[in-house]
Amino acid sequence: MSAHERSEGPLRASSAPSEPGPAGSGSGLSSPTLAPSATTDDGEAASAGGAILPGATLGVLGGGQLGRMFVQAAQSMGYFTVVLDPDAASPAGLVSHHHIHADYLDPQALAQLAQQCAAITTEFENVPAPALRQLAARRPVAPGAAVVAIAQDRAREKAHFVACGVPCAPHAVVETAAQLEAVPGALLPGILKTARLGYDGKGQIRVATRVELAAAWAGLGGVPCVLEKMLPLKMECSVIVARGADGAMVHFPVQRNLHRDGILAVTEVHEENVPQALCESAIIATKKIADGLRYVGVMCVEFFVLQDDTLVVNEMAPRPHNSGHYTIDACDLSQFDLQLRALTGLPLVAPRQHSPAIMLNLLGDLWFGSGEPVPPPWPDVLALPGARLHLYGKERPRPARKMGHLSITAATVAQVRATAREAARLLGLDAF
Ligand code: ADP
Ligand code: MG
Repeated sequence: MSAHERSEGPLRASSAPSEPGPAGSGSGLSSPTLAPSATTDDGEAASAGGAILPGATLGVLGGGQLGRMFVQAAQSMGYFTVVLDPDAASPAGLVSHHHIHADYLDPQALAQLAQQCAAITTEFENVPAPALRQLAARRPVAPGAAVVAIAQDRAREKAHFVACGVPCAPHAVVETAAQLEAVPGALLPGILKTARLGYDGKGQIRVATRVELAAAWAGLGGVPCVLEKMLPLKMECSVIVARGADGAMVHFPVQRNLHRDGILAVTEVHEENVPQALCESAIIATKKIADGLRYVGVMCVEFFVLQDDTLVVNEMAPRPHNSGHYTIDACDLSQFDLQLRALTGLPLVAPRQHSPAIMLNLLGDLWFGSGEPVPPPWPDVLALPGARLHLYGKERPRPARKMGHLSITAATVAQVRATAREAARLLGLDAF
């Protein structure tokens, strides 16, 4: 993050009062007073002594489930919240104190958000960088536009991994017909991924031959892409770190992830999960990636473990992550608590996982048997000890839509596995 993105420092507890209450549209509240921050030699805002305290109003750009869980964490600590999202029924907008219904690039809406909030965060990586820049001119914004722009582009993201010395999949950038021709044969079979706007396996086509590759690129509209070699995966895992403006970093345990059809299905987090040496490498790599960006906020880095036990970085998300939802129920601080602390300049204390955990993603498919959508058998699932249901308030289930997740905790790994398998059976999910 460049210094100018945090040119205004956090609200100082000592010099400026917190906002007196919720800052509603037209509530007439003045904007919070911001004191200039001390800056360190390398231009980062120093957090010592300055923090945005409970009672202040925080903003979120984006109204999805990640924003909802951030809002819930912020509210439980006594902050007020404003969500900017064009959808009147957005999951975060429904629970926030205030909701600005507007496009992310609407200059007036952004000005209102900046006016009402002491600091602003984002909850999806495709948030337009110009929106973050406009906000950052007036308020602390974390993560910053420059970092989000890197994470939004697979080619730039991979270049950052390479620059950090963290191995990623062999790949080639395909932006022109000449680059398509020049792709090394060793990258086939591979996966052609759009450089921008892909998520949950969307914007990706598996290709085995040059003919398939050319057809896939045309099928993706000839947009800039990255061709990645198809790797022999043994397992997938992810690491979530929180990094403060002063460079302090804490991390959660390594999460083991099972994807189905390109979408996260199951996350398991316990000591029998991923070999210790791989965990250590993944944590070191994640910290290098976050540090290299001088990142402020919560970041998730996804990894592949190959058949020969080598670790390869896949991608990073500049926000809390689906694979970290278990932290709400299985850790003393959740990923959203740490997002809040990083944003407000409050201490980043290392989180402690107190129970083995398994998270099952609940996609809209669960509502569809035959005919009209029917809710899954919640009472049966909730009869399982250690099961906690999180639904995101989305009105309409649709296949592949993330409707919620189920967290399962238990005293032992054997117990959490047994309960999670029973939950999956009751829900009609595939065994894992
Ligand atoms: P998304 O942004 O949609 O999450 P990813 O790049 O993480 O896209 O790909 C989705 C999933 O596809 C991965 O979690 C993994 O299961 C599989 N996948 C992606 N790239 C590769 C690869 N190079 N080799 C093997 N499997 C891959
Ligand atoms: Mg992914």
